[in-house]
Parts: sequence; structure tokens; C-alpha cells
Amino acid sequence: MSFSFDVKDELCRLPLGKNCCMLSELTALYRTSGSLSFHGFGRVQVQYRVENAALARRIFRLLRARLNITPRLHYVQHARLGGQRTCVLTIGDEDSQKLMLALHMIDQDEDGSIRYRRTTVRHPMTRRCCRSAYLRAAFLGSGTMTSPDKDYHFELSTTDQSMIKELSRLLEKCELPVNTYQRKGQTVIYLKGAQQISDTLALMGASNSVFAMEDVRIRKQARGAANRAINCDEHNSERMLNAADTQVQAIRRLVIEKGLRSLPPALQEIAQLRLDNTDLSLTELGQLHEPPLSKSAVNHRMRRLMEIVRQLEAEISTDATDTQEESL
Ligand SMILES: [Zn+2]
Repeated sequence: MSFSFDVKDELCRLPLGKNCCMLSELTALYRTSGSLSFHGFGRVQVQYRVENAALARRIFRLLRARLNITPRLHYVQHARLGGQRTCVLTIGDEDSQKLMLALHMIDQDEDGSIRYRRTTVRHPMTRRCCRSAYLRAAFLGSGTMTSPDKDYHFELSTTDQSMIKELSRLLEKCELPVNTYQRKGQTVIYLKGAQQISDTLALMGASNSVFAMEDVRIRKQARGAANRAINCDEHNSERMLNAADTQVQAIRRLVIEKGLRSLPPALQEIAQLRLDNTDLSLTELGQLHEPPLSKSAVNHRMRRLMEIVRQLEAEISTDATDTQEESL
């Protein structure tokens, strides 16, 4: 299962919390997953429709615990969407009114008559606990996050502009500045930084998911450090091979022009070793030498050897100029 699924599963299992928080959750869930239908003569019906069965169970429990409402639960199978199942919670007439009153969608006059104010919910979120609950429910109803193994991305998407405003304000209050963009008629609020996402998970109460994410972050950092070390090694060995290549070409030039025997014995040996082992480092060449030589000793001899080749090349180019001048 996806990381997003695991986070939601953890959130659905959290205790229902305080009365104020239960209402905050029901409000956000109504905004993401709720709908209202009128059936004439002032009869109304509220439905919650969600894909996730654990979330349907949570809504069921919230309605029961907070408002003593027992919704009817049934499933709709979508043949066109590969058999995907939607859980539908339908609330009866009277209970729907009770819920709408609780969510401040309607007012009740003293004589008991109902006045419809708006069809959107309104819920004060002055308490920190309620802000957490609201965010948790918004994520359950409309959120998703990428597995931190792949990328750091957390988002909430909805067509409800006032909910976008509320969520932006809420996240900014928690020092989690958000970005938004439009996608297929929906506004997407998203967070990108690993730390911000981790803080958001913590704010929603998903502490196991915070640990899971921190684990991934540590593994990624360790892997990054290991990769940098390997790259550095490769870089060094490439440099070493380039140097060895230059040495081999220089020694070949010397062999052609003058022969190895023109060199002092100590340099003859090291030149021969280099020609026979073109891919070894100076340390390794030193180990092959009889008796073994230190890296700095090999380095010293190699430098003398290179100096001799440079002098030789200088001589050759002067000779060439001389010959040209003679022929003029
Ligand atoms: Zn609360």
C-alpha cells in the first residue's frame, strides 16, 4: 500500500477526541465529501461519500459519538472505474437537520422553525486542537502525499474556494507556508519541504508516519553521503589514470628516441614498471619494485623521468628548427 494510504489508515485509527474537535472533523469532511439534497416540503438529506472504508467507519463513529446520529451505510460499485467502491453514508431527514444545525448551516428559531442560512458549513477554529482536527479531516477527505522515498510532496485539492482560504490561513498560522496551483478545475494546496511535511503530519497527529518519514530521510541522507564518497573515488581514479597515461606516452617517446638504456638504472626500472602496468597507482608500482619503494620515492623518480623527457622534447624541437634554417 502507498505511504498516503498508511498515513490515512493511521489517522482513521486515532481516538475521536474532544467534542469541539469531533465537530471540526465533521465540518472538514462535509466540505470535502459531503452533499445536501432537498426532497420537497423542507425535507433535506445529508450524505457523505468516501472511497476509503476506514474513513467511512470513522465518519460513522463521529456522527454516533458527537450527535447521536446513526447513518445508513451502503456501497456503490463503479463498473467504469475498474470496480472501485464508494462508501455512502446517508443521514435521515431529522438527523440531517440536527447535523446542519451543529455545522451552523441552518438556524432554529425559538418556535422551533428552521431557517436556511447557507448551504456551506461554518465552523470557528480558534483552538489549536480544532485546527489539527480540521486539517486531519481535510487530508482524509481530499489529500494525498507522495512516498518520501520518491519525493517530498503533500497536497490537498478541492473546488471549494473558501475551504482553500481556510486551509491556507490555518497552515500559515502553524508556520507552514503553502503554495497553490490549478489542476482540472480544482485548486491544489501543496507543501514541498521534507521538514514542513513532517511538521504537518505531526500536526495532524500521525506520529507513526512522522517516524516512518524520518527513517526514510535518514536512509536517503546516508545514501547521498555514500554516493558522494563513490563519486569522489571515481574522480580520483580518473585523475590517476590520466596521469599514468601521460607517463606511459612520455616513456614510449623516450624509448623511440633514445632507448631505455640511456637512463640511469633506477629510472630504467621505474620506466619499465610503468610500461608493464599502465593502470596502477604510484603506490602500487612501488610495491612491485624490487626492493619495494615508498610512494614518494616512486613519485620522485617519476618526476625525474618526466623532466628528462621534457628536455629531450626541447632538444628535438630545437633540432627541427635548426634543420629548417639550414634548408633555407
Ligand atoms: Zn478542539
